[in-house]
Amino acid sequence: MKLGLREKLFVFSLFLIIVVGLIAGFFLEHQRRSSIEARIEGELVTIAQLAREQFNDGHVHSAEEIDELADRLAAASGSRITVVDMEGWVIGDSELSEDEIPEMENHGKRPEILEALETGLGVDRRLSATVDTALLYVAVPFGDPEPRGIVRASVLLADVDKAISELRLSLFIAGLLGLIGATLISGLAAHIMTRTLRSLIYHAKNISERATGSFVTGRDEIQSLAGSFSRLSEQLQVQVEIMAWERGRSNAILDCMSEALFALDESDRILLVNPAAMELFDFERPPVGELLSEVTEEEQLGVLVESASPGRVVSTEFSMDRAGRRHLLARVASPSSGSGCVVVMHDITEIRMMEQFQREFVANASHELRTPVSIIRANAETLIDGAIHDPGMSPKLLEALDRNAERLMHIVSDLLDLARLDAKQREMVAVPLPVRDVVTHIVEVLQPLANRRGQDIVLSLDPPDGRVFADSQALEQTLMNLLDNAIKYAPHGGNIRISSFSQGNRIRISVQDNGPGISEKHRPFLFRRFYRIDSGRSRDIGGTGLGLSIVKMLVESMGGDVGMEPAEKTGSIFWVALPQY
Ligand code: ADP
Repeated sequence: MKLGLREKLFVFSLFLIIVVGLIAGFFLEHQRRSSIEARIEGELVTIAQLAREQFNDGHVHSAEEIDELADRLAAASGSRITVVDMEGWVIGDSELSEDEIPEMENHGKRPEILEALETGLGVDRRLSATVDTALLYVAVPFGDPEPRGIVRASVLLADVDKAISELRLSLFIAGLLGLIGATLISGLAAHIMTRTLRSLIYHAKNISERATGSFVTGRDEIQSLAGSFSRLSEQLQVQVEIMAWERGRSNAILDCMSEALFALDESDRILLVNPAAMELFDFERPPVGELLSEVTEEEQLGVLVESASPGRVVSTEFSMDRAGRRHLLARVASPSSGSGCVVVMHDITEIRMMEQFQREFVANASHELRTPVSIIRANAETLIDGAIHDPGMSPKLLEALDRNAERLMHIVSDLLDLARLDAKQREMVAVPLPVRDVVTHIVEVLQPLANRRGQDIVLSLDPPDGRVFADSQALEQTLMNLLDNAIKYAPHGGNIRISSFSQGNRIRISVQDNGPGISEKHRPFLFRRFYRIDSGRSRDIGGTGLGLSIVKMLVESMGGDVGMEPAEKTGSIFWVALPQY
């Protein structure tokens, strides 16, 4: 049978009351019986001693006198008085007639008689064979100075049993009343206790059902509660683990984000800041608890945060002068429920620079292309209009047409190279390349050009067998560009030196000329597309303004660096540093 908590509490208290009642009754009865018997024994001793005094009056009593005295003493004391001689024969008894006395068996072996003779007082408690009930006997010897007999007082112990029965009845009634009272109290207590417990169980059940989809039923409410709590604690453990994992994941996302992020409370105080924001605003420690407007000092950001409203995303773009001019796109999102907001800032400096760069590039490219195209078109029209038949003009016009077509081809070819490098379409296959072989090859190709200008090319390679890890075509194109520029910008009869040396785990190859050199203000922009110091001269000597930018892209694609520095006296040194093999 399945008992509820209340029933269990009730049964338990009932059992407790019965056990306590039984134990108390047992001890009470025992104690009561002992005290009544002790009292009766004391009375019998007094009666026996009083009787002894009657027999010690100095006379020698006859059998009749003894029996009569026994009768009187019995009547006065309410107990049976028996008198036996020293041999144990009954010589008087308050309950026997004179004729019956001689028929009495010898009492000499009765325990109380033997004890009285030995110690002066004998007591015994036994079942009477005649009346079939317990009797208490007290015997004392009499006679002075010599004992002449024993007087014995006895009484039925039925009174004791009666008193005990009455006690049992009282105890039973008291126990019953106690039981009823205890039942009521324990019922009430169980009800009060279980009411709180039931409310607890009800809530636990609700939470458990919501969290785990089920409720554990046990043998009683406590077991159900324990089951639910254990299920809830398992669920909680899982939730805690999920939360820890999610927190770790969120932190990882925040740490990896390139966008700066601030989480703000309802009073725009910072709750959270990610590493990108720390870096952008140059914070030494997370400014948690501070006002965003105070730590960033960006007015537009403050205005944006002010304009944020729940459930909407607002954004603005602003510039800030911190570690150079930076363009930022800030977005503010407020949760539709709850307060505070999240500010995310994208650094769009590079995007804006790229856009600017592209605009400039398109303008420059169109400009560069327009000139040769216009010349070609004008010359072609002139020739069509009849100049072709003019032997004086036609060779000049055709030669200009050819030169500009070639220039156009150079520009288009350089632009295509750049486009391929931009789109990473040009595949780089890095292999170990002996520097000497590559340099010797490009010198061979361009030597005729240098010869025409009376220029001397000197090689200084250290170590002579040094090898770089690079793409063969890209390295050749790079060095060809640099040597071509050196030949173009060095004066007639000038000197060009190609040298190489080890620099850490790289090999640096440089091309030095004794040309006009490049003033400091131009140096930072040398590797930009279409950047030319003297556009007129550059065009005249067939330059496109794209050579160095192609060099930079090629070298960087091979994992190297490129740069320019002034030569000691006059001229320039262009260098590339590539991984050494
Ligand atoms: P270009 O085709 O005009 O030579 P580059 O990109 O190769 O274009 O060079 C850009 C500019 O750098 C040139 O226009 C020139 O003004 C300058 N320059 C390049 N190399 C040298 C050099 N060795 N000496 C002086 N100026 C140079």
